[in-house]
Amino acid sequence: MTETALGWDHALSLRAQGAGDDELATILGGAPPGVLAVTGGFPNPGTFPEGVLDEIAGRLVRDDRGVALQYSPSAGVPSVRDYLVERQAQLQGRRPQLAELMVTSGGMECLELVSRSLLDPGDDVAVEGPTYLGAIMVFLGHRAQLTAVGTDAGGMLVDDLRARLEAGYRPKFVYTIPDYQNPSGRTLGLDRRRALVETCRRHGVVILEDVAYRETAYDGAPLPSLWSLAPDVVIQAGTFSKVFFPGVRLGWATGPAELIRALVAAKQTTDQCAGALGQRMVEEYGRAGHFERQLPAARAFYASQWTATRAALDAHLAAHCSWSEPTGGFFTWLTLPEGLDTTRLRPAAVEAGVTYVPGRPFHVDGGGARELRFSFSLLSEPDLDLAVRRLAGVVERALQPAAGGVP
Ligand code: PMP
Repeated sequence: MTETALGWDHALSLRAQGAGDDELATILGGAPPGVLAVTGGFPNPGTFPEGVLDEIAGRLVRDDRGVALQYSPSAGVPSVRDYLVERQAQLQGRRPQLAELMVTSGGMECLELVSRSLLDPGDDVAVEGPTYLGAIMVFLGHRAQLTAVGTDAGGMLVDDLRARLEAGYRPKFVYTIPDYQNPSGRTLGLDRRRALVETCRRHGVVILEDVAYRETAYDGAPLPSLWSLAPDVVIQAGTFSKVFFPGVRLGWATGPAELIRALVAAKQTTDQCAGALGQRMVEEYGRAGHFERQLPAARAFYASQWTATRAALDAHLAAHCSWSEPTGGFFTWLTLPEGLDTTRLRPAAVEAGVTYVPGRPFHVDGGGARELRFSFSLLSEPDLDLAVRRLAGVVERALQPAAGGVP
């Protein structure tokens, strides 16, 4: 292997030079042996489909070679789009026109396609504070200006956004994760959903609605999607990563036909089409009714994970911390006592055998110093308890003045 004396920095684009956050990659990249990680947003492999995928894949590879093994149209395999139209009608109570829906290579690609289609350098995007890191990275990659809208237990503070829009603020779009948000676990209430779509409609601002966790509602009954309330102003980014499996890399976009047309055009310079084999697998799996059979078990599993986490938080951290109460999804959001800093505490936490993602990277305005994301999707229930106990020990030690903590 040869290497130039200067390395390869000079070869990187400006965009690539700005992209590498090594610390974050380390945090998200797995834990040393013996350290319990509540870091990742990974679905639990125990929820992945079992017993049917080999039959479906075998049948497609044998009998559907011309479609499943071939390139597909950029908007998706026609029969898959038909299925997704039906699925939207069934799950969200509104049937998109065919021209209002496309297949994407996961939710991430949908965020990329929307950014390519709507953003010029310097354009503003309104995001929740905190919001999904992957989205922040995509928008910054398009050199957008990110503006935080605050949140509370009921999700985005829509009144604040409305006041700013009324004062002349004009983002290119508002990005929101209304259901069991990553990272906070919070859900946008129904009145705020109505207020958000009405406000954005009035001011001609597009909403990008990310429904990554929507189908993990513990009671199986999420609130109406923003897209179902206002298909004229909302682009919805959906994914099969949490309800099927992330390895399939599949999602959808649904929204105004004119915008979907732009996204389909943008897809011609990302991957041209999502993998047809995965598309057909989702379709066959779904048409056979397997989602209805499998999802209740996945929801019950995550609900139980949260119950175990909450019991541990109540038992060990209630004296010092507060946390969000998710009703779906994988995350709770912890707030530590005044003066503590979750980034600075991380080495002590790793030392104590637990690792988490600090709150700051999820905020675009420098906030979140004493917040952290706690993901309960992957660990066993006894390990969740142990992780919380270890975290409580770290917090207690940091609060003792002798330990150099907060006086
Ligand atoms: N949006 C949110 C809020 C997510 O948490 C994730 C995955 N962690 C995605 C989008 C991307 O999902 P996908 O695997 O479909 O790219």
